[in-house]
Amino acid sequence: VVGAALSNAAVIAADHEHVFHSWSAQGSPVPLAFAGGEGVELWDHDGKRYLDFSSQLVNVTIGYQHPKVVEAIQRQAATLTTIAPAHANATRSLAAERIAGVAPDGFEKVFFTNGGADANENAMRMARLVTGRDKIVSHYRSYHGNTGAAVVATGDWRRVPNEFARGHVHAFGPYLYRSEFWATTPEQETERALHHLERVVQAEGPASIAAILLESVPGTAGVLVPPPGYLAGVRAIADRYGLLLILDEVMAGFGRTGAWFAFEHFAVRPDLITFAKGVNSGYVPVGGVIISDPVAAAFDDRIFPGGLTYSGHPLAAASIVATIDAMRDEGIVEHAASIGEDHLGPALRDLAARHALVGEVRGLGVFWAVELVEDPATRSPLPPAAMVRIKAGLLERGLLPFVQDNRIHVVPPAVIGAEDVARGVAIIDEVLTEAERS
Ligand code: PLP
Repeated sequence: VVGAALSNAAVIAADHEHVFHSWSAQGSPVPLAFAGGEGVELWDHDGKRYLDFSSQLVNVTIGYQHPKVVEAIQRQAATLTTIAPAHANATRSLAAERIAGVAPDGFEKVFFTNGGADANENAMRMARLVTGRDKIVSHYRSYHGNTGAAVVATGDWRRVPNEFARGHVHAFGPYLYRSEFWATTPEQETERALHHLERVVQAEGPASIAAILLESVPGTAGVLVPPPGYLAGVRAIADRYGLLLILDEVMAGFGRTGAWFAFEHFAVRPDLITFAKGVNSGYVPVGGVIISDPVAAAFDDRIFPGGLTYSGHPLAAASIVATIDAMRDEGIVEHAASIGEDHLGPALRDLAARHALVGEVRGLGVFWAVELVEDPATRSPLPPAAMVRIKAGLLERGLLPFVQDNRIHVVPPAVIGAEDVARGVAIIDEVLTEAERS
């Protein structure tokens, strides 16, 4: 299967024959196939190379084929490929220890899941069990995963056809560029979004609410970096009404924003942290919940009614240990912060200054969105047909983008260097110039 003799066309035809794809009608074949990768680059079966500005689904933080992580998976595979979650396993304990080591003090236990959705699923369950309450409040501009409760906690369109879980309530969060609150300053946006959230909590009945679940920095919804004071204000609301705060760090966590956790930028302390993606750059599927000591202690003498066959799978655990060690040894989180501050952020702001199509750029670390508009005055989003042409232009020039609605999310692996940042942004520049001409 790995054979170099395959062509893109053959791989795509075989895929179309038997693979049923996510979030799409199945009638047309997928457009791209990939054969291999290294660092920040991927290549297809026909020899075309791509610079990855997507990190796939914003998960390949350490880049492709990090040798230490590949080796750790191989070593674990040669030792013990699987073990039930009820047994102790040294690699699993090490993985949990590494995760607790980068989490704030007072978060000593980790419940492992298969990915991000079931991390949120189990965090919500813990909150409901611990508080004895039912409802979960989350934001409309959010994605929390594609399982029963996680997809209903999700705010975006993906919730609507899947609304089969109960006990979920939504509120609008801050997004100054398209404020729901007629705000014109970050201070107003924070104050009014917090007022709205508190009114939703009051109107729903605080005694019926278990938790507020938020992405620290909403990712797929547009890299919506919260304005100063917002997350601290949410914590205060949670405390005022006895609710738990679950921060979803599935996309933003483990280095993406230039910190181990995105909430570190905002001086807020959650009760439960959910993670996946960056914890091992997706080399093996895994996610989990990092549990604060009081929540963990609530299950000392009480059964936690939940589990998964592959919870803490040794191949995933080995990849987590090696990823966190590599990130520490190589300063990858610090690099994400400095490449964002010194190169990616300035280059994207320069694009915004020169292109009328760019309404706003925002982000942190290697987590940015370039929001495209038809008209900067009305801020009307660039329509889908134009976005399709822009995406095609980027791909044609060898840049693999993450395009969402009217935005290009610029989310490369955190190991990207200044030259590759410049190369990728130059391609975006060229494609925007071409789009403006047409
Ligand atoms: N939470 C956030 C913030 C995400 O971005 C995602 C996936 O994109 C998920 C949860 C779901 O993770 P998974 O696809 O691993 O289930």
